[in-house]
Amino acid sequence: MTKTITLSLLPSEAADEQGIKKHIAAECGVKEGRISGYHIQKRSIDARGRQVKIILQVLVFIDERVQEQLPFDPQLHDVSDAPHVVIVGAGPAGLFAALKLISLGVKPIVIERGKDVRSRRRDLAAMNKEGVVNPESNYCFGEGGAGTYSDGKLYTRSTKRGNVMRILQLFHHFGADENILYDAHPHIGTNKLPNIITAMREQIVACGGEVRFNTKLTDLILDRDTVKGIKTNDDTVINCSSVILATGHSARDIFTLLHSKGIAIECKPFALGVRIEHPQLLVDQVQYHCTVRDPYLPPASYSLVAQEYGRGVFSFCMCPGGIIAPAATAPGEVVVNGWSPSKRNNPFANSGTVVAVDEKDFATYKFTGPLAAMHYQQMVEQQAFKAGGGKLVAPAQRMADFTDGKVSRSLPECSYLPGIHSVGLHDVLPKEVHAALKKAVVDFGKKMKGYFTNEAVLVATESRTSSPVRIPRDKETLQHPQIKGLFPCAEGAGYAGGIVSAAIDGERCAEAAVKMR
Ligand SMILES: Cc1cc2nc3c(=O)[nH]c(=O)nc-3n(C[C@H](O)[C@H](O)[C@H](O)COP(=O)(O)OP(=O)(O)OC[C@H]3O[C@@H](n4cnc5c(N)ncnc54)[C@H](O)[C@@H]3O)c2cc1C
Repeated sequence: MTKTITLSLLPSEAADEQGIKKHIAAECGVKEGRISGYHIQKRSIDARGRQVKIILQVLVFIDERVQEQLPFDPQLHDVSDAPHVVIVGAGPAGLFAALKLISLGVKPIVIERGKDVRSRRRDLAAMNKEGVVNPESNYCFGEGGAGTYSDGKLYTRSTKRGNVMRILQLFHHFGADENILYDAHPHIGTNKLPNIITAMREQIVACGGEVRFNTKLTDLILDRDTVKGIKTNDDTVINCSSVILATGHSARDIFTLLHSKGIAIECKPFALGVRIEHPQLLVDQVQYHCTVRDPYLPPASYSLVAQEYGRGVFSFCMCPGGIIAPAATAPGEVVVNGWSPSKRNNPFANSGTVVAVDEKDFATYKFTGPLAAMHYQQMVEQQAFKAGGGKLVAPAQRMADFTDGKVSRSLPECSYLPGIHSVGLHDVLPKEVHAALKKAVVDFGKKMKGYFTNEAVLVATESRTSSPVRIPRDKETLQHPQIKGLFPCAEGAGYAGGIVSAAIDGERCAEAAVKMR
């Protein structure tokens, strides 16, 4: 007999296989010896009560052999001699599009402006240690895109469970831990992602696909309204009839190129603000109602949202036990983001805390037209650079000082490696963002007791939350309405936000490109 049951266990009980079996037997009302085995289907944390519980949904086998789960088959074939589709960008969207094309019998040619994972690491070290930005190789550009040195949280608002599970299974197939398949908030961690991304690329190449690094799309070759090929930075032409454009939210040159060629793009509202860092211990104490975190519990996280002066303000990409990272893609700008290792064992907790901005705000600064949001974003990032004093040093302010309008006399220790500099953030952030944030952090402190504290530091600027541009596409064919064979894809085109949704959109574009042939 098989049975699906839900258990509510103490963290230590949930970490002990034998202990789980005991609880299963009790819940099912049978002797422990009759439980042949179980599979965990879902795992989540319930921190609402004083005693934090782990909730497990398990499939139990009673008096019968445990059925092993069928191994996942990614259905990858040799496509060396197959017709090809060009993919621009080797981020999650580009890589998952390539794997999908292979499964459909089509050869992917992936071009990527940045370097392979390993070479990219040196450029990240230069950003962190010397404050130097390589515009082709950074936290956003290079093999695996913004996903490689990201936090690797894999939850998504996408509701199509089948699609999400396939992406998780592929990550698992290429080396991610099994727990991403059942955790309510799956997380890979920055230390593990590079090997997974490398394994994906090696598989693409082993199947006969191509991945070309240091290769940047510089022009689209069109015959009136139809794609005929692409041109790259070394003046190479690659002939093709389909291009999946998966260049991410930071490829400003791509937005400018499309606009200059008269290919329709649209200004897109987005959200902008700061990264807020607290001591992890404080977040654990608040969320788990404890003095010291139970060693069987992961570092705690939070998710906060408010409506201030008619604008949405929300926490974003929370990284428990994490690090604030420099995510600029060009010299002269300061952009921050966050990541954490798989164990989430740094002493800090950070999250983006951002305010929704739209066309009305951009127009206040005289930015209009399809690139208005991008120019507004750039303006704030450059202000942050100037205020920080150069070399990627980020302007920062303690939380209570921020709401009191006082420049902080000292700053707490912070995980941001290029360093922080005490500044009044009203000099950096647009006034509409500053005002909404000021009110929001106080309100967040009412919702989450302990959050509002001068031990917390606000670091500017969190500005690459989503693309500032939408590249339109037909709902059915996923092609640009003006250009046959151009498939605007994932985050950079405004159709995804995060690793999993970008991967899902990459797969959808691959299917659409194959259908068009
Ligand atoms: C530090 C950090 C932490 C993050 N943490 C998380 C997280 O925990 N969970 C989550 O879901 N999301 C996270 N994100 C966001 C996530 O990484 C992105 O949403 C996701 O990578 C978007 O995928 P994409 O393929 O659409 O674009 P990208 O990942 O941006 O990839 C685009 C690729 O295109 C390449 N490219 C650009 N222009 C050209 C050109 N002209 N020619 C050739 N190649 C080009 C770029 O070099 C890049 O490799 C994080 C991002 C960062 C920076």
